Amino acid sequence: MKSLAPNASFGPGKVLQARYAWEDGALVVFVSLEGEEWTYRDTEILDARYNQADRERRIKERVRLGIRRVFERVYGLAESPWGILTGVRPLKMVHSMLDRGFPPEELREILLEVYALSSRKADLLLEVAARQRPYFHPDPNNPVSIYVGIPFCPTRCSYCSFAAYPLETHGHLLPDFLKALYVEIGQVGSLLRELGLQVEAVYLGGGTPTTVQGDQLEQLLQAIQKYLVTAGTKEFTVEAGRPETLSRETLAILKAGGTQRICINPQTMHEPTLQLIGRRHTVEDVRRAFTLAREVGIPLINMDVIMGLPGEELSHVRSTLEELARLGPDNLTVHSLALKRASRLKKDWERERIAQEQGEAMVELAREYALGWGMSPYYLYRQRHILGDLENVGYAREGTASIYNIQMMEERQSIIALGGGGVTKLVASDLSLVRQANPKCPAAYAAQIREGLGERLEWLRRHFSSRY
Ligand code: SF4
Repeated sequence: MKSLAPNASFGPGKVLQARYAWEDGALVVFVSLEGEEWTYRDTEILDARYNQADRERRIKERVRLGIRRVFERVYGLAESPWGILTGVRPLKMVHSMLDRGFPPEELREILLEVYALSSRKADLLLEVAARQRPYFHPDPNNPVSIYVGIPFCPTRCSYCSFAAYPLETHGHLLPDFLKALYVEIGQVGSLLRELGLQVEAVYLGGGTPTTVQGDQLEQLLQAIQKYLVTAGTKEFTVEAGRPETLSRETLAILKAGGTQRICINPQTMHEPTLQLIGRRHTVEDVRRAFTLAREVGIPLINMDVIMGLPGEELSHVRSTLEELARLGPDNLTVHSLALKRASRLKKDWERERIAQEQGEAMVELAREYALGWGMSPYYLYRQRHILGDLENVGYAREGTASIYNIQMMEERQSIIALGGGGVTKLVASDLSLVRQANPKCPAAYAAQIREGLGERLEWLRRHFSSRY
């Protein structure tokens, strides 16, 4: 109930009832609220491909659907195109069903019936899943991928939820941070060689790694190439999100340092919005950075845009996409704005319904443009309180999908995170996960590397040695 309506409160006398029973070869679920009743007989869950844990999960899923339906009727809760699938990684469930031999057409029915997805979202999930599966490896622990986090940015954007310390106020921590990072890169690199691990993709993210410039950037890229890139490495991405950090000199350093893919993220090509969200760069900066990146020969460029930025309507999104069409990126990532303090009280549900319609139209327009540029959706995730209950989708031209994005999102490959704010995720053979987060604060990170790196390396060594 809380996940459907986090801020709802119920007064005295309002009773929400939910019951289930296994009766006559079916799971029967009953939900009622204020005289509205919802009943479902589920026979599909008795199929032999399901186990006991699946059946217990199905009870919860059916109750959830029942609650959604009575909320819709009693309080006018807007229908969601994602139905009851509120998790961040909806594709994980789809992949697990495909692993178990459910054919896509049967899975589509389940997505519509059990999870109440709209047919568009069901088709989107199946399309993306089919595109991702060739990237999965039989062993989740070799090859691995590597994330290196640089938790600094020129300024902090108003909607930011990442590890991003503004250079102006925290720049004095950078030298010590980099010193610690070189130690970690060297030690993790030696461990990779000792264990015979290949690295499939390296992602330098943040923050904005290109906040680091000149000799410091050169040295950082050299360390990554020397210790983390292996013979089997297929991709090296640098999140160069803020265009004002991208001079010709910086881009040339990136190119010389082996960067194959960069992200230049305008978010919008509407000047007043850029100022409103605290980005302190101009539309012209984006055009200039993109053109320079092409000129110095960075092979692939991704651009991120956000749907639903304050004050923006469909016409703004259209003009942003028209601008991007003139530039011609290889990848486009379409985010829907996540509202940190979204209110879902009943009085706001009408507003939310409007936001949902507008959000859907924006997302659909971005999709049309991306498909028109010869791109296809290849990864997808959701966030809590996302505009209109929508999703974030990465599009790529044929052969340019980011391997790292797929592996990171679907959690079928161990990812070792170095630097500030990254999360190492080690995957077991049954695809269960163990996580360990690095401190976001550059000073805390540097202290941890000085004091606790040995322990961390031992933890990694144990995990990768135990699989033989
Ligand atoms: S550029 Fe990205 S990481 Fe940096 S402050 Fe803005 S949203 Fe946060």
